[in-house]
Amino acid sequence: MYKDFRSDTVTQATPAMRRAMMEAEVGDDILGEDPTVKKLENMAASLFQKEAALLTVSGTMANQIAIMTATRPGEEILLGEESHMYNLEVGGIAALSGVQARALKSSCGKFEAADVRKLIRKPGIQAPVSRMLCLENTYDLNRGYPLSPAYQAEMAAIARQYDMFVYLDGARIFNAALALQVKVSDLAQNIDALQFCLTKGLAAPFGSLLLGSREFIARARWIRQRIGGGMRQAGHMAAAGLVALETMTERLQQDHDNARRLAAGLCAIDERLTDMDLVLTNIVQIDFASVGKTAQFVTDALLTRGIKIKLIGETTCRMIAHAGVGPEDVDEAVQAIREIIR
Ligand SMILES: *Cc1c(COP(=O)(O)O)cnc(C)c1O
Repeated sequence: MYKDFRSDTVTQATPAMRRAMMEAEVGDDILGEDPTVKKLENMAASLFQKEAALLTVSGTMANQIAIMTATRPGEEILLGEESHMYNLEVGGIAALSGVQARALKSSCGKFEAADVRKLIRKPGIQAPVSRMLCLENTYDLNRGYPLSPAYQAEMAAIARQYDMFVYLDGARIFNAALALQVKVSDLAQNIDALQFCLTKGLAAPFGSLLLGSREFIARARWIRQRIGGGMRQAGHMAAAGLVALETMTERLQQDHDNARRLAAGLCAIDERLTDMDLVLTNIVQIDFASVGKTAQFVTDALLTRGIKIKLIGETTCRMIAHAGVGPEDVDEAVQAIREIIR
């Protein structure tokens, strides 16, 4: 068994989830007759204080449905240069919605208000329409910056001045809420629509929830069907998600503690390996440049010791704490890195 720190996506369904999936009460959800799906969608909507929710197979599907729902071909959306939607969704923005993307620079997870204003198009016979501002929280898959409700409100206020739709990719929003000590509904305020993942830290095997107004979700449901995302007895899937929401959100604190433990262990080897101040949720970025090693050398050496980490650049790697790795695994990884780079 590998100690796998590559991502929190490697988490597996808990015994309670497996039982719930097996015993779920189900129906044909395309006909609106699956009680377990309805229960999950209602629970998510009330947790985030949004009018309605829609279960999708994945976070990518939820994001793409949101763009298809809120834009028309030829329009433009603004999103972060490090965002998942811009970098890791196979060009779906262009291929599925026919809109173009404009990337915003970010520094420590944030956009400058002046940059956002500058990139929003002013109306004109030759100008594309800036339709949507996309935030992500936590932001940056190799950092996991939590963004405060106040920052989100500031960004949303700018977008509103130009009548733009405000979308939030909240794949890891429970990590953000925990780090900031706020409710997830606080992070859904001033946001027109958002999605969050049941996978990752919450450890369900599949599923995301897209949330928004009743009208938005009704159209999103129709779009989901168009791309083959309508599901029949999806209650088996929703059942695991219900268990995830009921039992897995508070335990994310352990992941944040383990990420800090990992970062502290690395800094004890060499302070330049990681920046403790930037380890705010469950993600640790490591730069081996200061010890003269490449990321490939370290990942290969760790693999022979049964430890997997993610290579992100010439000298940089990422490690994520999650339900499948405990403090003793963190200590083992730190010790292994200590020996490898000596
Ligand atoms: C993981 C992730 C997604 C996509 O979720 P999938 O279920 O893997 O498609 C989208 N956005 C962010 C920020 C993510 O971390």
